[in-house]
Amino acid sequence: MRKKLVAGNWKMHGNLAENNDLLNAVVAGVTGLRDANVAVCVPYPYLASVQEILRGTNVAWGAQNVSQFDKGALTGEVSTAMLKDFSCTYVIVGHSERRTLFGEDNKLVAEKYVAAQKAGLIPILCVGETLEQRESNTAEQVIEEQLKAVIELAGVESLNKAVVAYEPVWAIGTGKTASPQQAQDVHEFIRKGIAAQNEIVADGLTIQYGGSVKGNNAAELFAMPDIDGGLIGGASLVADDFITICSALQN
Ligand code: PEP
Repeated sequence: MRKKLVAGNWKMHGNLAENNDLLNAVVAGVTGLRDANVAVCVPYPYLASVQEILRGTNVAWGAQNVSQFDKGALTGEVSTAMLKDFSCTYVIVGHSERRTLFGEDNKLVAEKYVAAQKAGLIPILCVGETLEQRESNTAEQVIEEQLKAVIELAGVESLNKAVVAYEPVWAIGTGKTASPQQAQDVHEFIRKGIAAQNEIVADGLTIQYGGSVKGNNAAELFAMPDIDGGLIGGASLVADDFITICSALQN
């Protein structure tokens, strides 16, 4: 059976005191949930304290970005080895905010994906179309190209050790969620595209949905056959919402 995963993306939010309260509530709320793989991807400065709080719990942690380079004169960058020092399991690569606000293109995202895997981190590879691309019927082509860049560089089997997050850009932080059927259609498209290259890899691949997932819509999204959990922004900062979303993995 495919692994289902809910991962929180805190973005540039939080402080030591709030993180502590949030994580203690999340740990208490998800302990004992069946089949619930849960993670939080936090800002770099909090990795040490998050590790302290989450070690020994069933909540994993990771980062939201990483350098494609191992080390060097690269002011402001953070390497995969540094993330491993804090026992990160996951790292998000290619989030749409990195792509649009920080100019990350498919090639760079693929390099980050490769660097993450080389270090033993599980990349959560974000793909998704803008509203303009959806309206001009190029969404599938955009997503295909985003995946192709990674597959060409790392091989399709690399997806055995990765998570893909389908995040329509028009649904991120906007309160507009893709309908379960809209999301399912794209997830099926992604899985079929990968199956054409390797059916076993496609069958085992965790494909999360992300984009305004809340406590009140998670269950119907996660009930779709090709949706294997979610990447959660805003609602991951609210313990009750996040716990409800994690609980929806069980249905
Ligand atoms: C995200 O940041 O990946 C995301 C999906 O955000 P939100 O849930 O707030 O739309």
